Parts: sequence; structure tokens; C-alpha cells
Amino acid sequence: MDLKKLAEILIPDTDLLPPEEYENIYPERSGVKGEVTRLAPSPTGFIHLGNLYSALADERAAHTTDGVFYLRIEDTDEKRKVDGAVESVIRSLKYFGINFDEGAEINSPLNIYGPYYQRQRAKIYRAFAKRLIEQGLAYPCFCTEDELNAVREEQTAQKLITGYYGKYAKCRNLTFEQIEANVKAGKPYVIRLKSQGSTENKILFKDAIKGEVTVTENDQDVVILKSDGIPTYHFAHAIDDHFMRTTLVIRGEEWLSSLPVHIELHKVLGFKPPRYAHTCSLMKMDGGTKRKLSKRKDPELSLDYYRKAGYFPKAVVKYLMTILNSDFEEWTLKNPDADYRNFKFRIEKMGKSGALFDLDKLNDLSRTEISKLSEEECFEFLKGWVDEFGTDKDKAHFKDKDYIIKVLALIMGVGGKKRRKDIERAEQGVRLIDYFFDDTFAPEYNYRFDKKTVNCVLEKFALSYDPADDNSAWFAKVKAIAPAVGFAAEMSEYKAHPENYKGNVSDVAEILRIAITGMPNSPDLCTIMGILGKERSLARLNAAKI
Ligand code: GLU
Repeated sequence: MDLKKLAEILIPDTDLLPPEEYENIYPERSGVKGEVTRLAPSPTGFIHLGNLYSALADERAAHTTDGVFYLRIEDTDEKRKVDGAVESVIRSLKYFGINFDEGAEINSPLNIYGPYYQRQRAKIYRAFAKRLIEQGLAYPCFCTEDELNAVREEQTAQKLITGYYGKYAKCRNLTFEQIEANVKAGKPYVIRLKSQGSTENKILFKDAIKGEVTVTENDQDVVILKSDGIPTYHFAHAIDDHFMRTTLVIRGEEWLSSLPVHIELHKVLGFKPPRYAHTCSLMKMDGGTKRKLSKRKDPELSLDYYRKAGYFPKAVVKYLMTILNSDFEEWTLKNPDADYRNFKFRIEKMGKSGALFDLDKLNDLSRTEISKLSEEECFEFLKGWVDEFGTDKDKAHFKDKDYIIKVLALIMGVGGKKRRKDIERAEQGVRLIDYFFDDTFAPEYNYRFDKKTVNCVLEKFALSYDPADDNSAWFAKVKAIAPAVGFAAEMSEYKAHPENYKGNVSDVAEILRIAITGMPNSPDLCTIMGILGKERSLARLNAAKI
């Protein structure tokens, strides 16, 4: 058969370059010493924790070795494309401190290996497919969906491996004339690899994570170009990873089963395969059993979940680091204040099977990380959440940075020695400061004393309050009110003769606290009143009368 002519008929494009040319267009990355890794998502708009986990491994592998981490968009499946998905991937990862050096929508001088959208690389794939046809290593297949289904059913019934191989590869033996007639008749066709492999042969393969794995050689005539001329993942990734000069492909273990196909594709294309690292899936404990995190059942799989709830992004990343490399946790214990980027990440240390994702542990880490933030960092963190997810009132509150910082210093101990350690998410922090603003102050006046007592305390204190008082002068005034309502001014006295009093000085303080904050518990009330200011404090004392 005249293969050259066959290739012309099947791929008649006149604007294709000779495949060898691409070796010059996309030369080896001579200046790069480290790993070249990539994230290669489909632009479906859904980016999940598994993607972040993998992206973090990619980013660390590249950036701990002085390498390059780039973004390639695998948009060969038009149906799954969602507008704005690429920006959303970049934004989501950036939020978690993961930045690309190169790639789709990344403005970088390094962008010489593009285009980084697979749809824009059609010519390259077609040039290589044409070459394979010329070499007798690929052929057209005209089988319809129905025919393929029938073959699959027959194979299933006979308990055989399903697929297009051996005697089931019907179109493998079409003559030139048959092919030409089909093409002329306008029959749609795909291009398949003419596999040279046999399932009799085993290949010993070294995965960067899983170590040595033995796989069976491929004998399937997989589709390389679909009927619309667009490549499949198998074909596109082999060509792209070669010409983008990827050194390490980190991807989910669901791809391990197609590895034999990829090994063969690299071989027929004349490429040296990159190293592969297949990551294990993220699992969670569910009622005593371990199962994969699921998009349907687990909201925590979506990355938006963490942003919306206001998790501290670095906590999420550090938690993922503990899953990525099991010695990371020990390292952080030894280096509590060090940047996680100083840890020596190694792909080989990644877990070989089911990584357990534990939300409680993440919450714990988030609390610790938040409790370490400086005033500025804490403000920026909360404001970041407010800007995106807060109410209009929250947004207005965060315009007054000095005021917020004062509040945070008191509420969370930010900037001081005694830090509050129970805030795990921005949303919680933002709600905690609501009572410092009149428009979100929603008091519940649940006093434990009668109207006369409460109102007397509130009125008397309002008369004596002076914002210039320090803590002890303030407390002396609280004490001074006690006798007027039949409470003990001294705790020792109260403890000795509780029967003589209706309450004690701390009950006076509680009434004031409820009036000012709307709650029976709060941080130091004298400081709160100082932050609110005299006018607002007095207005609250007045409004809190019953
Ligand atoms: N587009 C593939 C996916 O989203 C990428 C797999 C890979 O990293 O090679 O699963």
C-alpha cells in the first residue's frame, strides 16, 4: 500500500510542518536544571482538592529543584469546557500560594513552549499522526458506535479483554481502495495506533512514587485522533509533554492503567518518555471505612469550599504537605516558624496508596496558623474573605483598618502574647467582631436579675463612666455600684456570707457586659468600651434598660 498517499488522503492538510521541525521549535530547556512539571487540567470549571494536592506536588517538585512549573489546558473535549475555567484554576491556586512560571494565561517571558491550549496545537498532533500513517503505525477506523458496542458485548460475553485489538481490530486490514472509497463516501473516521505490542510481554516500569511496577505491554489500537481531527488525551499528552520538555509527569493513579499505551506511543513517536509519578487518591474515613473523596458526597472536595468558609490558605497547603510527605509534620514541629517552602519535598517520599484526608486535622492546623498571624496578616486575611464573601456591612466595617486592628488585638489577641486559638476560619473571625459595629450589633438581653436591679446598675454606671479610667479605676466604679443593688462589692465577703446578698460585683459586671456586648461572656469589658468610645458605650447602656 502506498502509505504516503494514504496519509495524504486521511490528513490532507497542506500547512503541516515536518514533525522533526518541532524538535528545533521547542528545544530542550538547556537553562533549566530542575524538574519541569505541569498541571494539565481540563477546563471544566471544577477544581478540587485532588487537583490542589497534585498541583502542590508539581509546584514543590519544580521549585525545590530550580525547575519550571507550567499550566497546560487540556481542552480537547469541547463539551466539558466552561467559560472562565482557566482563570478560575489560576485564581484558586494562587489563593493557596501556588503560582505558575509559564503557561496558559500566564504572562511570562518563558512562554516559548506554547500554545498551552491543546486545541491550538492541532497542527502539531496532525503532523505526527500523518507521519505515523506514513510509517504504517496508524490507520483509519470507520467503525460506528454501534459496531464497537457489538464487539464490546461479544468480548464481555466471552470474558475477554474489551477493546480494539487483534482480530477485533476490523479496520486494521482495510485495503487502500476500501479506505479511499469510504473517505470519498464521506464516512467519518478516527485514526488509530497500529499497536506493535503483545500482551504476552511484560514491561518493568519505574514510577517515581510507586516504585517498580510491572505492566503488560499494550496491544490495543487506541484512538489517537478523533473523528473531528482532535487528539485523544493519550496522544496529545505524549506530544505535549515531549515538546514542552516536561521531565516529570505527576498525575492521578487512574492513569496507571493506560501507562502501557503511553509507553508505546512514546516509542512509536520516537520520544524518550518523561518520568511518571502516579499519585494515590485522597480518601476519607466514613463510618469506619476508608473511601475516596467524592464530588457528590463531600463538599470538602471542592476548593471553593475552603475559600467560601474562609480557611486560612496556608493551613490547607501545610495540611496537604503533611499528606504529601509524611516527614513534613515532624519537620514543622522542629521548625514551627519556618516557611513550608524550606522543607525538602521529595516526590519519592509520597505515599504509595490511599492518602487519608482528615478535616479535623486540617481544622486544627488552621486554628494554629491563624493564631500565629500578625495584625497586618490577620487583617488582610479577614479582609480578603470579606471582599469576596462578606456582606455589604462587613465590607463597610473593613474600611476602617485601625479600628478593626484594635478589635482584633482584643478579640483574638493579635499582636499580643495571649492568642485566641479557636478560630479556624475567616467567617468565624468576622462574625466575632459583629458587636463592635452598631449595624451588626444584635444583643440578647438575657439578664439574670430583675428590672429594677438591671436598670439601676446601668444608670449608675452610665453616670460614673469615664473613658479616661484605666482598668482598675473602671473596676472600682463597678464595685461602687454593688451596694446600691444589694450586691457584695468584695468577693471574699460574698463567699463568706452569700445569704446576705442578691449577687456580687461580678454580677454587676455581667449586667454591664450584656448591655455593651449583648452577651454574658466577652473579652475585657473596659477595653471594649474604650474601643467603642464614650458616646456609643453610653447609648448601649441606655438602650439595654428593660
Ligand atoms: N487532563 C488530564 C486530567 O485532567 C490530565 C492528566 C495529566 O496530568 O496528565 O485528568
